[in-house]
Amino acid sequence: LRTKTVNFAQYSSIKIGATKEVTLIDEIGAYPNLHLIGSASNTLVTEQASNLALLSKAFDYIGVEDNRLIIGGATPSGKIHSFCKKHNIGNLEYLSKLPGTLGGLVKMNAGMKEYEIFNHLLTVTTEQGELTKEQIHYGYRTTDIEGIIYEATFEINAPFDHTKVELFTQMRANQPKEPSLGSIFKNPVGDYAGRVIESLGLKGHRVGNIGWSEQHANFLVNYGEGSLDDTLHLITTTQQRAKDELGIELELEIIIL
Ligand SMILES: Cc1cc2nc3c(=O)[nH]c(=O)nc-3n(C[C@H](O)[C@H](O)[C@H](O)COP(=O)(O)OP(=O)(O)OC[C@H]3O[C@@H](n4cnc5c(N)ncnc54)[C@H](O)[C@@H]3O)c2cc1C
Repeated sequence: LRTKTVNFAQYSSIKIGATKEVTLIDEIGAYPNLHLIGSASNTLVTEQASNLALLSKAFDYIGVEDNRLIIGGATPSGKIHSFCKKHNIGNLEYLSKLPGTLGGLVKMNAGMKEYEIFNHLLTVTTEQGELTKEQIHYGYRTTDIEGIIYEATFEINAPFDHTKVELFTQMRANQPKEPSLGSIFKNPVGDYAGRVIESLGLKGHRVGNIGWSEQHANFLVNYGEGSLDDTLHLITTTQQRAKDELGIELELEIIIL
């Protein structure tokens, strides 16, 4: 298997992370010991991470067959959005504002509000073959898909809706512009993680060049060459204080490897 050196301080969306040797997967197969990374828009790669893998360019494709959208696991959200716009295909307009690859988006059931990747999904291909949507358990930002997502198909049943792109752009208007991983914690039941962070007095709080955003308390933002240690420190101390002072468990939405 081919490998390549990836510096996650450049590769990841938050521009923080270790440098690691990563396996490149060119063909469908079972690689039980490898941990897949998409574009690391939701993942922090620490020094302890090992056995990392990326799908190669062989899985970066999108097309239409039998009136279905067929998308490879390594295809970036921006490319999916451009294709849909060009070919007047609706339902995935929010991908204009959601970073990631098809594999990561499907695995996380990513989305914006009620617009989620599973809404119009038909099948997912892993090393076990093709799974239909009915065979998969999925919920808010979670699925039980095991193994590697090589491809997924989607129904085509609506035209591309430009007004939705505007809606999603507006929804993003007050999001921090600095590099981030999106929301760090899941919202506790009946509450908001951002509210919890704010009530601990941590909104805008920085350690080194990393901090809880002034604009959106549940976003950790990198003000420039922020360190991995400071990032991990902020996450764990915030969880500890939420538990000690408010009795609230803040569960991670991001993945720390
Ligand atoms: C500014 C910003 C805003 C964001 N806003 C949102 C939002 O509104 N809604 C939302 O849902 N998310 C949001 N996110 C998070 C992120 O966009 C999604 O989680 C996205 O799905 C991550 O895709 P990725 O390819 O980068 O996955 P990664 O972070 O690389 O991986 C995420 C998970 O998917 C797994 N995975 C990746 N590829 C595969 C594969 N081929 N097969 C099997 N497993 C795989 C990984 O092992 C990991 O468990 C935001 C992120 C940023 C930076």
